[in-house]
Amino acid sequence: MHELSLMEALRDQALAAARAEGARRIAVIRLRVGELAGVEVEALRFAFPVVMAGTIAAAAELAVELEPAECHCAVCDAPFPAPHGCCDCPRCGTISRRLLRGRDLRLLSLEVE
Ligand SMILES: [Zn+2]
Repeated sequence: MHELSLMEALRDQALAAARAEGARRIAVIRLRVGELAGVEVEALRFAFPVVMAGTIAAAAELAVELEPAECHCAVCDAPFPAPHGCCDCPRCGTISRRLLRGRDLRLLSLEVE
């Protein structure tokens, strides 16, 4: 399950950030997950307590913010929703290969105590 290793990497990032702030414990870990990031949110939620066990984030809450995917149309010079990856612009039909967002999995913020 690659969500487990992704979550391990996010944990290390979160712990490093919390340590830099001198936190005693992490209350909330907020992630942004792109629609096209290729991860299952359910699998992330499953991995979360497993990888956080024994750390200052053991009792933390996982908050997931979903990011819709968008492509940029060069003809319209505007973004359009692309839930299945880059495709044709719904306004003018031009095929766009420029994905603006929706592929990321990243740490958004932490709430620490
Ligand atoms: Zn267009």
